[in-house]
Amino acid sequence: LDYTEGIGWHDGRIVPYQPISLDPSAMIFHYGQSVFEGLKAYVTVDNEVLLFRPDQNFKRLNNSNDRLCIPKIDEEYALEALKQLVSIDREWVPNAPGTSLYIRPFIIATEANLGVHPSNRYQFIIIMSPSGSYYKEGINPVKIMVEQQFVRAVRGGTGAAKTGGNYASALKGQEIASKEGYAQTLWLDGKENCYVEEVGSMNIFFKIDGKVITPALNGSILPGITRDSMIQVLKSKNIPVEERRISIEEVVEAHNNGTLEEVFGTGTAAVISPVGELKYLNDKLIINKGEIGEVSQMLYDTLTGIQNGSIEDTFGWTIRL
Ligand code: PMP
Repeated sequence: LDYTEGIGWHDGRIVPYQPISLDPSAMIFHYGQSVFEGLKAYVTVDNEVLLFRPDQNFKRLNNSNDRLCIPKIDEEYALEALKQLVSIDREWVPNAPGTSLYIRPFIIATEANLGVHPSNRYQFIIIMSPSGSYYKEGINPVKIMVEQQFVRAVRGGTGAAKTGGNYASALKGQEIASKEGYAQTLWLDGKENCYVEEVGSMNIFFKIDGKVITPALNGSILPGITRDSMIQVLKSKNIPVEERRISIEEVVEAHNNGTLEEVFGTGTAAVISPVGELKYLNDKLIINKGEIGEVSQMLYDTLTGIQNGSIEDTFGWTIRL
């Protein structure tokens, strides 16, 4: 789909996967005006294909568009296009447990211009690829490291938008973490550098003394669709859940007094990833003896069950094609 100022979005089309041609002055190459989404299509136990909350991805894409001065898309048109696209490539949706078709919608600024201003031309593209499970460890607990030196996003910045720049600024922390043998970085807030924000590609939850706590959306955290879904599942099961500020010191203290019961991340790719070890300064906090907790396992089973159609979707989240 193309956008031209004065015309709007036009020329929606489905074409074979192929390279695209852009002017070297296309604004995307210079000023990072881009947004994207990530979602999945799953094969159910009845051999049907379903999408998980795709409307929420296009809604979030439009929120990102707003922040990046990109013209909004028609969410219903985008959903219809996505359904057609996945139906055409039906045989590419893998069927083995834990696998899915990963879908990446994105918009780039294509005006050829070296001035800094919102582009007057864009391309909205959806690409897809079969994918296996995210962590090679599977549902086994991952190790994550609290980043001390660098910040991914600041309040008032673009952290709540899904835009390339956030991921570029996260690379350095990610590099440090992987050199030390950690799968991902846990980012703290950029202002006081003590409140927990999120992990590289997932939102984070802590179970402390029977209550599940996740950082409140403050403008610098990505509003994860899995995060929102898991909060709803927890509420439906009468498990206390709080969205609020949580400092890294509170987490360490809970670990030290034995009330930190579980830590887990949520995300489209990460699904539910239990955290078995959290490194903060020189401390290596081992969580739940490095094992999967009860709530993490329940959320994983519920989410994957709804996505593969073995659990009834009482929330109305899934769209069958
Ligand atoms: N935070 C960040 C920075 C992410 O990239 C992702 C993955 N999209 C998430 C959180 C989780 O979001 P979702 O549940 O919508 O995949």
